[in-house]
Amino acid sequence: MTGPYVDGVPAPEFGPGMVVRVCRECPASWVGLPDEPCGWCADRHARMVDEERRLLLYPPWLRSDAGAGALRAWAERLARAVQAGIITHAEARRALERVQSRRLRRAR
Ligand SMILES: [Zn+2]
Repeated sequence: MTGPYVDGVPAPEFGPGMVVRVCRECPASWVGLPDEPCGWCADRHARMVDEERRLLLYPPWLRSDAGAGALRAWAERLARAVQAGIITHAEARRALERVQSRRLRRAR
């Protein structure tokens, strides 16, 4: 195949129903089915969700002396993330317990 590629151009040499696909979000182009989502964008989205989860569950500012207000705001963000399906209820609870036990250790 030689460029420039045009989305939707039939590519029967790659199999029945196959077409040229050009992503609208990123520079990717490939041969696939007409309704096939872009794998590169899906990977990028998965990495973004992973990073968002990591920042939620292990926020860098927690290592500093965060005040009660910051902790309360963080707990609310965790609750919203559970509702949005970004993290599970168990993950949020473990993250809160981890912070609480760390603060108890520090208080002794
Ligand atoms: Zn893409």
